[in-house]
Amino acid sequence: MKAEDFRRFGHELIDWIAEYFENIDQRPVLPAMEPGDLKAQLPSAPPPHGEPMDQIIADVDRLIAPALTHWSHPSFFAYFATSTSGPGIFGELLSAAFDNKSMLWRTSPASTELEEVVLDWLRQMMGLDPGMIGIIYDTASVSSMHAIAAAREGVEQRIREEGMSGRPDLPLLRVYVSEQAHSSIEKAVITLGLGQRGLRKIPTDSEFRMDVDALADAINEDKRNGYLPFCIVATVGTTSTSSIDPVEKIVPISEEHAMWLHVDAAYAGSAAVVPEFRHILAGCERADSLVTNPHKWLFTPFDLSVLYCRHMDLLKRAFSLVPEYLRTPEQEKVRSGSDYGIQLGRRFRALKLWMVMRYFGHDGLAARIREHCRVARLFASWVDESPDWELLAPVPLALVCFRAKPRDVPAEKFDALNEAIMHGVNASGRALLSHTRLNDKLTLRLSVGNIRTTEQHVRQVWQLLNDELQRRTT
Ligand code: PLP
Repeated sequence: MKAEDFRRFGHELIDWIAEYFENIDQRPVLPAMEPGDLKAQLPSAPPPHGEPMDQIIADVDRLIAPALTHWSHPSFFAYFATSTSGPGIFGELLSAAFDNKSMLWRTSPASTELEEVVLDWLRQMMGLDPGMIGIIYDTASVSSMHAIAAAREGVEQRIREEGMSGRPDLPLLRVYVSEQAHSSIEKAVITLGLGQRGLRKIPTDSEFRMDVDALADAINEDKRNGYLPFCIVATVGTTSTSSIDPVEKIVPISEEHAMWLHVDAAYAGSAAVVPEFRHILAGCERADSLVTNPHKWLFTPFDLSVLYCRHMDLLKRAFSLVPEYLRTPEQEKVRSGSDYGIQLGRRFRALKLWMVMRYFGHDGLAARIREHCRVARLFASWVDESPDWELLAPVPLALVCFRAKPRDVPAEKFDALNEAIMHGVNASGRALLSHTRLNDKLTLRLSVGNIRTTEQHVRQVWQLLNDELQRRTT
């Protein structure tokens, strides 16, 4: 592409994006389409010849944008609502332009060194202790998988050299999580060859937090049976309810049994940048590793997950393999990302986080997260005060779990009613909610996390929910 064309279409696309954000609330959050609708409009064969850029951009407008679920829409309240931001987008743009493959220090000094600096800034913002060293992966699923691999390396059973299959000398290795833990931990256990029986799920208390006595009993029982308990994964901000496992009480158990303690703070870790919410990480100063996702609640475009680890030597021992063609004279003095994971080449992700942190500053990031928590609690207070609705879990941060329970509807119809209300709201295109199941009750979830979401958007979805309830009960 000629420089003049690059400039012209670049300006055009930036204008397109600016307009997209300015008018995003005119678009339906969820596209009104059926599976296969987009595919049916696209040619099934590749373009034999190059096509003009303005035609390609026109097709983004005509075909792609209408088929998007708009995660940046201020009324996107589903899953964990997350959104990108201007400085984050610029970081992605530059990173694509530089196209560094950040595998060795030499192939990308800026990426390697900026990553170390920026992750130390984030560590300070979250109040984590200096022994925690950060490394970037794509997602929390991958970060946690690497943490458990490092923990496995630490059991000194020569698993790296000899593997696990066909070894009668190897006891059953076990990882412990609460029943509310994210499925990514189970996937990590499967991926690492530990098998699903290598994961033990611990019950939770009435507020969906890991039951610490049940954890201690499970570990003791497994030890009596000859198993090798080696890792506990606590969650700070579970996916269904954002409950916070009592890390401070889990630490003594992990220390007593010399087990690795990994903390999954993929969602809630960002909240620790708000000084008055820092307590959610109490006890994490004694954890072995912790994952947090700036791509969730720190206005950084997907993907960017950070693993903080106290034992980088074990992570390196688990993954480093340096063939001749990757040897460099400076390798003993520098950190090479490829030594710490399964990937060789890594994207220059630190750039976007650096731009986000510099643009908003610690106080700007904290102010936005604090406001999200305020409006979520306001919504929770409306639910709590209404005779037709109820809260189904505490609201420690910015996620509300609730359901309709009108007096004139029998309780056995609540699940169907709430499902219908959710689908009604979502089909309107004016807001998007998701659900979970708590104590066998279908539960609606409202997550506030978008940079554009204000109190007015939350008021609007409350109205929509009440309109849907009325429509279905009168
Ligand atoms: N852990 C928790 C607590 C989550 O809520 C999620 C996703 O929502 C994940 C892990 C997985 O995140 P990722 O998509 O970055 O793998």
